[in-house]
Amino acid sequence: MQIGLAATTRLLGIDDVPDDRVPGEARPADEHLVGQELRFAYREGRDVLHGIDLDLQPGERLAIVGPSGSGKSTLGRLLAGINGPRVGRVTVGEVDLMELPLDVLRTEVALVTQEHHVFVGTVRDNIVLARDTQLSADAGDATVVAALEAVDALDWVQRLPQGLDTMLGHGKTELTPAQAQQVALARLVVADPHTLVLDEATSLIDPQTARHLEGSLAALLEGRTVVAIAHRLHTAHDADRIAVLTDGRIAELGSHHELLAQGGEYARLWRTWRS
Ligand code: ATP
Repeated sequence: MQIGLAATTRLLGIDDVPDDRVPGEARPADEHLVGQELRFAYREGRDVLHGIDLDLQPGERLAIVGPSGSGKSTLGRLLAGINGPRVGRVTVGEVDLMELPLDVLRTEVALVTQEHHVFVGTVRDNIVLARDTQLSADAGDATVVAALEAVDALDWVQRLPQGLDTMLGHGKTELTPAQAQQVALARLVVADPHTLVLDEATSLIDPQTARHLEGSLAALLEGRTVVAIAHRLHTAHDADRIAVLTDGRIAELGSHHELLAQGGEYARLWRTWRS
């Protein structure tokens, strides 16, 4: 009874949270993501981002680096439309992310973290989650199989007792962390957003598994605009541009070589990291 009571209270609590999205009719004209004058506070009066402007070129790789607590993850959440800024706006194709219905938003931009979720339901349900209203049953299976193949997960799914119809989740077939991550990545392949924000902040996965997943992730990133929150600097080195965030402000913005030549904060971080 106590468990039931706690669960019900939680559900009622969710209903109490005011909706921060006001979906409108406008739809993005293109895939251009822009953040303007972004400010955000977790507690009133304490901004952790102080007027950030960021213009993403479609198809580019942008790395965000900076000291711990400088606001990297917060900026990532704003760019993916998880939270709305206190001031300013993030737009895609000139439409505010907070004015897009969630199912449309998720086909534009998505946040990828290592905090993935497996829901109670079949493997298929878990993967078409983001798109199920638009997929007919037959076309759906082909899409799901292609997505699993892309993230290198088709083999083990086909070996499950009922393949795509195998029930997952608590008390059913339990997946390993790597398999759960692959299911989450396959879900994104199906949702097919043109922009991805990668935040690897919480390293829940051991290094060996992480290396195994790199191929799955690379397949997902192919052909998309990527904002990578780089908690380790080698991610930054390979990016087209790097934004250095300090105390909630963009201190430097440019390519690895430009920023090294500039001899500022990034050059200092890079030297420290190399040594
Ligand atoms: P890290 O590299 O350590 O993950 P970060 O650069 O991603 O750090 P954020 O996680 O965006 O930084 O945090 C920016 C600031 O906001 C920090 O001062 C942090 O303490 C604060 N903060 C983050 N999340 C919350 C929260 N849920 N409630 C209150 N304050 C928060």
